[in-house]
Amino acid sequence: MVPNELIEYYESWVKEQGSSSSEDEVNGHLRAYVVELKDVWEKRAILRELRFRAGGVVCSGTVDCVEKPTTVCMHGSHPTCAKHTDDCFLCVPISKLSQLTR
Ligand SMILES: [Zn+2]
Ligand SMILES: [Zn+2]
Repeated sequence: MVPNELIEYYESWVKEQGSSSSEDEVNGHLRAYVVELKDVWEKRAILRELRFRAGGVVCSGTVDCVEKPTTVCMHGSHPTCAKHTDDCFLCVPISKLSQLTR
């Protein structure tokens, strides 16, 4: 089982980083910025994994989307957030594959 406290920890971490990363303080040390981005990306991926293991649903739009799914993708098959209904990674490859084999 995944304790809710753990999920909440990552949720608050991701929220804090998301709001501060676009500020002007990041100019200069590009390398540190890249490391920070990777760190944020990993935390988002971990948060998705934890939610999934806890029996929750995660958005199928991007692998690091941490929005709570409120709708389904364009094919109506998978949960996505409102922003990613056209970017479902479970459906897009399938439609591309069927084009290739036609
Ligand atoms: Zn999304
Ligand atoms: Zn889909």
